[in-house]
Amino acid sequence: RTPVLEVRDLARHFVLSAGLLSNERPVVKAVDGMDFAIQEGKTLALVGESGCGKTTATRMLLRLDTPTRGQVLVDGEDVHKLRGRDLRRYRSKVQAVFQDPWSSLNPRMRVRDLVAEPLLANANLTKKEVDRRVAEVLEQVGLRPDQARNFPHEFSGGQRQRIAIASALISNPRLIVLDEPVSALDVSIRSQIMNLFKDLQEEYKMSYLLVAHDLATTRYLADDIAVMYLGKVVEVGSSDEVFSNPRHPYTKALFSAALPGHPDDPHEEIMLEGEMPSPIDPPSGCPFHPRCHLKMGDICEEHAPKLTRQDKQASVSCHLY
Ligand code: SF4
Repeated sequence: RTPVLEVRDLARHFVLSAGLLSNERPVVKAVDGMDFAIQEGKTLALVGESGCGKTTATRMLLRLDTPTRGQVLVDGEDVHKLRGRDLRRYRSKVQAVFQDPWSSLNPRMRVRDLVAEPLLANANLTKKEVDRRVAEVLEQVGLRPDQARNFPHEFSGGQRQRIAIASALISNPRLIVLDEPVSALDVSIRSQIMNLFKDLQEEYKMSYLLVAHDLATTRYLADDIAVMYLGKVVEVGSSDEVFSNPRHPYTKALFSAALPGHPDDPHEEIMLEGEMPSPIDPPSGCPFHPRCHLKMGDICEEHAPKLTRQDKQASVSCHLY
């Protein structure tokens, strides 16, 4: 089946200005060849440290940035080639919920107008139809239809995130990008919002692309997981497989640091040492080699491994496999 979202060899390179001592203009390879796909009704999580390229990749999916190379396909259509009516259709098919419900909602707009915003491109709807649809989605996210009259400051953080989710839902999207969707919320309400995402997905069969630092959220929501390092996917597979049998040394170290003593973590503790190198001057060979505790000498320092399928469940980019 055609995936709802497919990313093929996606890359974004930024050319910086020349420095004082040289005329050479450095190139930042923020994303440097990513491949993954999300099927209908499924969730894929992108994980990795800050600076790994998750944000740049997400911006290209949302058409907020243009790829240097590669494609983003939604329902088989290259989103960076869409124009006119096709582009408007894409805009209603793909929505986003961001981290901070305090800043993502315009404080001067009533909930009704905030939630209805994605419908405004559809000139065929009457005011009454829009009001009815707003009432419907408010109920779907656990708010009351009469709360459409209120302003964002009258709500708690969790309720504001529900308003943002209602706005994302109103155009019946195929895909919602969830960018750190619970990390700004009180711990006590995170699980309510995560359950809401699950319930909505079960009912409406939307796909989610989840960007999250927090591996507990990832584990709870994601069917598949793509681990990114320095602009590349280094391991991708089903969440069950990657969590229970992480293969790439970076995935092992990331999980070991984030889930110490996790009852399901069967792996020895591995320290993730040093910082991620700069994407301006990435290491030769395997980009993880300066931090890898399993490095094998020349092959790792000189030859970049390719993302290779291991079995039905996972692919990994490492010379050990
Ligand atoms: Fe480590 Fe070599 Fe694998 Fe890179 S290719 S992760 S350096 S073992």
